Amino acid sequence: FAVHLLAFHFAKLKEDQIKKVDRYLYHMRLSDDVLLDVMARFQAEMVKGLGRDTNPTATVKMLPSFVRSLPDGSEKGDFLAVDLGGSQFRALEVKVFNDGRQSSQLESKFYPTPKEVIQGSGAELFSYVADCLSDFMESRNLKHKKLPLGFTFSFPCKQTELEEGVLLSWTKHFKARGVQGTDVASSLRKALQKHKDIDVDVLAMVNDTVGTMMTCGYDDPRCEVGLIIGTGTNACYMEEMRHIDLVEGDEGRMCINTEWGAFGDDGALDDLRTEFDRELDLGSLNPGKQLFEKMISSLYLGELVRLILLKMTKEGLLFNGKVSAALLTKGKIEMKHVSAMEKYKEGLSNTKEILTELNLFPSEDDCIAVQHVCTIVSFRSANLCAAALAAILTRLRENKKLLRLRTTVGIDGGLYKTHPQYPKRLHKVVRRLVPNCDVRFLLSQSGSAKGAAMVTAVAYRLAAQRKQ
Ligand code: BGC
Ligand code: MG
Repeated sequence: FAVHLLAFHFAKLKEDQIKKVDRYLYHMRLSDDVLLDVMARFQAEMVKGLGRDTNPTATVKMLPSFVRSLPDGSEKGDFLAVDLGGSQFRALEVKVFNDGRQSSQLESKFYPTPKEVIQGSGAELFSYVADCLSDFMESRNLKHKKLPLGFTFSFPCKQTELEEGVLLSWTKHFKARGVQGTDVASSLRKALQKHKDIDVDVLAMVNDTVGTMMTCGYDDPRCEVGLIIGTGTNACYMEEMRHIDLVEGDEGRMCINTEWGAFGDDGALDDLRTEFDRELDLGSLNPGKQLFEKMISSLYLGELVRLILLKMTKEGLLFNGKVSAALLTKGKIEMKHVSAMEKYKEGLSNTKEILTELNLFPSEDDCIAVQHVCTIVSFRSANLCAAALAAILTRLRENKKLLRLRTTVGIDGGLYKTHPQYPKRLHKVVRRLVPNCDVRFLLSQSGSAKGAAMVTAVAYRLAAQRKQ
């Protein structure tokens, strides 16, 4: 009986902590009604971005990718790819061949992206990329070959064809000088020309969402959405040409890079943003920009948690009101900590360890409360992502004039891949918001750059056909 009473006592204490945090972060817990409202707002943004007259002032840019054809199985050859803008920079070789069915083989190498390079001058950035590619070709013994290359570049770019793209603005932690407003593919070409010992042809430039959709489309032909939930967040999908005012022609479909990270930059989400979101934004590299992304992606979630814990502590709700220098330091809590604190079994002991490392002296109650703060912040991220994805799925369903849509979403990104509960939560909310869509979520196994190589392979095949 005494044991029962004790267990009851602890359950009650835990419940008190959870209630305390729930009340404190009331504004971050989004009901399905609110999410349906966010979904409707995003549907309107998509229409705005696609329209000729409304596009110039639209915040969600709905950028045409010039990717229309999916691999048809006849592609073959040896292709290179570089992938810049995610958590890791890498160079790849993709061999595409057909031995009864289309197959591919992939070799790759990761390179560091030091801050001096990604926040220095544009010329330095592209010569670094070219140096790494040349090093990779050396190590793969490819220097004597002329090879086509696909460039995955994970930033908003205005494209007028597949082989060029003008950077609209840097996002995430990138900020190299003199690149905004210029054609990134041609800068890469210029940097590659300085290497006399290699002969590379930059044939295609794709966003990482598009690369992910193509990578997954290779395994599942039903895939028509690409989603990234990592350092940044974004999605692309196949849109009907007749709805894309900015591109001539009404036949068939083209992949649209939504750039949904900028949703809310015109104030459309101000009623949902909290004081913590505003504070985080002010301290970021790009204040006022990518406001939806700042509520979702892994570059920001840890910092949101830190800002919440700091305020709660100052108000005496945590750690006996004692703030530490570490807790006051920007960037001290990262996504990896949030994931560790939310682990199913070890979560509580991880939390204690992490808080102790921040020189806080957490009680059991503090640990329970902090864990719950993490859950609310990462749950909100999954909820918001689900609302925007539900808008895209509904659009696809309506475009096809179907009552029920069966489709596949290709996904990549560190947050989705490494957070213990994120995928489950996201899938569940999407299914609740759009009950008339049967969605298969397909994790990209080899990343977005394989897709870039596939786009290149298709472009190469089409170019060869034109020459005949
Ligand atoms: C960029 C997108 C990219 C996404 C995921 C965002 O910050 O604007 O182009 O797809 O991050 O990497
Ligand atoms: Mg059109």
